[in-house]
Amino acid sequence: MVRMKRGNILHDTIIIGAGPVGSYLAEKLATHGHRVLVLEKKADVSGEVCCTGIVGKECLNLLSIDNDLILRTANSARFIAASGKSLKLCRNENVAYILDRPALNRALAEHARAAGASYLFQTQVTDIQPDSNRVCVRATQQGKTRSFDAQVAIIATGYGSSLPEKLGLGKINDSIIGAQAEVQVKGIDEVEMYIDHELAPGGFAWLVPTKNGKGLAGMMTQQQPKKHLKQLLTSLKAQGKIISADVTCGYGVIPLVPLPRTYANRILAVGEVAGQVKPTTGGGIYYGLLCADVVADVLKRALATSDFSASRLSYYQKQWQAKLKREQSIGYLAHRIFRDLGNKQLEMLLNFANSLGIPKIIAESKDFSFDWHGRLILNILRQLILGFPAQGIASFSKQHKKHSQTIPT
Ligand SMILES: Cc1cc2nc3c(=O)[nH]c(=O)nc-3n(C[C@H](O)[C@H](O)[C@H](O)COP(=O)(O)OP(=O)(O)OC[C@H]3O[C@@H](n4cnc5c(N)ncnc54)[C@H](O)[C@@H]3O)c2cc1C
Repeated sequence: MVRMKRGNILHDTIIIGAGPVGSYLAEKLATHGHRVLVLEKKADVSGEVCCTGIVGKECLNLLSIDNDLILRTANSARFIAASGKSLKLCRNENVAYILDRPALNRALAEHARAAGASYLFQTQVTDIQPDSNRVCVRATQQGKTRSFDAQVAIIATGYGSSLPEKLGLGKINDSIIGAQAEVQVKGIDEVEMYIDHELAPGGFAWLVPTKNGKGLAGMMTQQQPKKHLKQLLTSLKAQGKIISADVTCGYGVIPLVPLPRTYANRILAVGEVAGQVKPTTGGGIYYGLLCADVVADVLKRALATSDFSASRLSYYQKQWQAKLKREQSIGYLAHRIFRDLGNKQLEMLLNFANSLGIPKIIAESKDFSFDWHGRLILNILRQLILGFPAQGIASFSKQHKKHSQTIPT
């Protein structure tokens, strides 16, 4: 074990944050023989997780977890407008898997530990200082300040950490708020998505049945999450879909755009902190894992040559953007159009999707993917540009024209 002059162990990699992305990466690196230390501010990995845990098949394949972490599988979802009008999208096979999120965090941390990674809890990182031969990570642990040394530090803190900005990586400049509560459901056997901007301004709401009569009711909204989640719960209770509206609520902010820079000398940022999220749904698990795979690959090469310079690590940003940039740009464009629509326009959109045969396309398409929406979104946008003015919906037409010059080809 290498020790620095002042007695600190020199780890190969310190990962800050034991969320799904941090632990998944820790396992990868430890399996490659890196000495990995994970620092987590919470007392354990599974506390205070606010997430629905819906992932697609490709993500599930990356995770290699036990089946008992899957609370439910889904092959359909019903999209419901404020008027109650609905559109059902359905496939013959399962496309989505609802995971037990606290258990997922635990399982990934166990895998990482089994591969040789070490974890320290109640250790909140406050500063990262890179220099020419190491990076020093400072943290507070039960009121005491501690420092840890490594060849490279990975920020996997989720959204909201001040570390990226302090390190000159910039700031994420658009986000949305997620709010959710676990509920007891009554007679709900299918995922319901509420496309109603009075209920969830700028976003959408959901009721996702999970297991043993339980479910998750939540939303993505641009404002007043507490008030709007309360309204959703009250409305679901009034409709007899949930048993009580008096439940514990959780909140989290979801980035909609990437961090401008995700690398620096001896530092990388990965997962939600780097804005590696689907702007259409707010889903961050799959993209975070994909980018963690890129980190593992880049670090394998960097460790082999002991070169952790910013110019060497810049390859990481090139690589992950090559995978996600186009999807994220199209998804963000769709989000910006969608968030400005009123309830009337949302209902027109639902009708239009129906008249375009979207349910049939989704049901029959051979290359349908839960995780990659770009092509489908572009097709719908093009059809909308052609179709909506013809239906005399001038207001929507103006709305999408505002964004149409940015539609990628
Ligand atoms: C309501 C809601 C529903 C969602 N539903 C889905 C969904 O269905 N599917 C999906 O894919 N995504 C969903 N997401 C997003 C998903 O939860 C995140 O994208 C995912 O958790 C990101 O993983 P991560 O490991 O990057 O960060 P996190 O899961 O946030 O983990 C980061 C960890 O870092 C720790 N940490 C933070 N700062 C420090 C510090 N300074 N020092 C030490 N430790 C620190 C935190 O305590 C945390 O444990 C949802 C989000 C919300 C809010």
